Amino acid sequence: MIPFLDLGASYRELKAEIDAAIHRVLDSGWYILGPEVDAFEEEWAAYCGANHAVGVANGLDALILALRALDVGPGDEVIVPSNTFIATWLAVTAVGARPVPVEPDPTTHNIDPTRISAAITAATKVLLPVHLYGQPADLDPILALAHQHGLAVVEDAAQAHGARYKGQRIGAHGDVVCWSFYPGKNLGALGDGGAVTTNRADLADRIRVLRNYGSRVKYVNEVPGMNSRLDPIQAAVLRAKLPYLDVWTERRRAISAAYGEGLKDSDLILPQVPGWADPVWHLYVIRSDRRDELQRRLSEAGVGTSIHYPIPPHMQAAYADLGVPAEALPLARQLAAEVLSLPMGPQFSLVDAAKVIEAVRAAA
Ligand SMILES: *Cc1c(COP(=O)(O)O)cnc(C)c1O
Repeated sequence: MIPFLDLGASYRELKAEIDAAIHRVLDSGWYILGPEVDAFEEEWAAYCGANHAVGVANGLDALILALRALDVGPGDEVIVPSNTFIATWLAVTAVGARPVPVEPDPTTHNIDPTRISAAITAATKVLLPVHLYGQPADLDPILALAHQHGLAVVEDAAQAHGARYKGQRIGAHGDVVCWSFYPGKNLGALGDGGAVTTNRADLADRIRVLRNYGSRVKYVNEVPGMNSRLDPIQAAVLRAKLPYLDVWTERRRAISAAYGEGLKDSDLILPQVPGWADPVWHLYVIRSDRRDELQRRLSEAGVGTSIHYPIPPHMQAAYADLGVPAEALPLARQLAAEVLSLPMGPQFSLVDAAKVIEAVRAAA
């Protein structure tokens, strides 16, 4: 049996380092914020090529805090991809604003910049692209539109640790870049974790205050903030893993190259990478118009797969009252029916990748 993802594998690979990091925090007596979180913030900002990083509780909170720092609220609109994990939309509705979906470029599955203009209204405040599956969205036209219309850009980089756009790491292209360290992400904690990175000192400062009860000085509250702090134990785990992130990305690249080579003459649609993108293969997503049958056959052959994502946000019960009809976003709907994610991970072996290729070729 080949699982879709073995979440314990990264811990097993780095058990000694991670155990030591956790014990360092336990022994320190410092269990909220403090030196471990400060050090991770510095290291993560440096890795991303950003001036500032602020550690928060999870990726959804990173998005919510970014929007709050930009004063997005009721009456405002935020342009989001129609094809994304629902957290991107949940952040927008959590601050009382309205998500305005834009369809993807079907070759990359990322937001199609040529469709954004038509969605901009007088109420638009933010463009919120997602670097889906670890592949950067086409940022230059998005940044140009933002500049032209006086909008902010918040990036959802929850799947894109280390990805590069035109040679530059994701981390400071837009106003705020939001990260998740959920265990399955390319840089994952052993629990929840998140961060924002930014070159804007004003926004880093606002998010730092907002994540900690709106307080800079204990028991003095400037704004109605949240409790959304990165846990120091998770910060220590992330510090132990960060030096291995690029090695792990290389392994993901090798697996995706093997998949690409092994499946190139099948009738499946394989991931396509624009020349300016340097993706980190959080997921390897293929498309088939007989996806459900393919998934069932792979399962029978002992190959675990997953679907990212089976129901687009606008078709979720959670957003029934948004009034976006299912057929209004046909590309999101079609992708949800056709995508299939093959096994992928930094400890996933090329031997197993070859078995997956065999099984997919037999089933397809
Ligand atoms: C994982 C993820 C999030 C949310 O991160 P959490 O840490 O689980 O809150 C947001 N957006 C995308 C695209 C994600 O993949």
